[in-house]
Parts: sequence; structure tokens; C-alpha cells
Amino acid sequence: MWLAYYQENRAKILSQQHKYKEEHREENRIRDRKYYQEHKTQKQIVHKNYSLTNRLKRLAKERARYHVSLAGNCSNCGGTEQLERHHPDYDKDLEVVTLCKKCHSRLHATLKIEEA
Ligand SMILES: [Zn+2]
Ligand SMILES: [Zn+2]
Repeated sequence: MWLAYYQENRAKILSQQHKYKEEHREENRIRDRKYYQEHKTQKQIVHKNYSLTNRLKRLAKERARYHVSLAGNCSNCGGTEQLERHHPDYDKDLEVVTLCKKCHSRLHATLKIEEA
């Protein structure tokens, strides 16, 4: 009769294993989904902040172009060629510094290095 006992037990063990797997599968699925959701949200927040910053920059530039006339020369080297507006702080959209194109791009290159 051992064979019958074994078979019966085997079926029980198998069904227990199956059950265990099933439970775990659900667990894993929930964990995966949770991870995905958190990741997705994080990505969306990063993306949102990025486009928000870009929008702020664009608005600041537009407002400054409209409201603030450029000073006669670059506040760094005194040059009068290719003058541009630089925003030290994009939240203060009307506070701009006049810089020539050369000084402006040099300044941004420096800022980028400092940020990194
Ligand atoms: Zn300059
Ligand atoms: Zn600038």
C-alpha cells in the first residue's frame, strides 16, 4: 500500500507546491507592479519638472525680451557686439544681465561645469 500512500502524498505535495507558487506568483506580480508604478511616477515627475523648468525659462526670456531693453554693452567685457540677455534667476524674469554672445556662452559653460 505504500505506493498508494506515496501517490496520495505526492499529489498533496504537488498541490501544496503549486499553491505556494500561485501565492508567490501573485506576490511577485504585485511587487513588480508596485515597482513599475513607483518607477513610472518617478519618471513622470522628472519629466514634469524638466518641462516646467523649460517653460519657466522660455517665459522668462519672452518677458525679458519684451520688457527689458538691452544695455549698450556687455557687463563683462564691455563689448557691444551680439548682445544677449542672461537670466541669473529664471524666477525673476525681469532681472537680466546684458552679456555679449561670447561671454554669455562662456558663462553657461562655466555654470554647467559647476552644476555637474
Ligand atoms: Zn562680453
Ligand atoms: Zn544666460
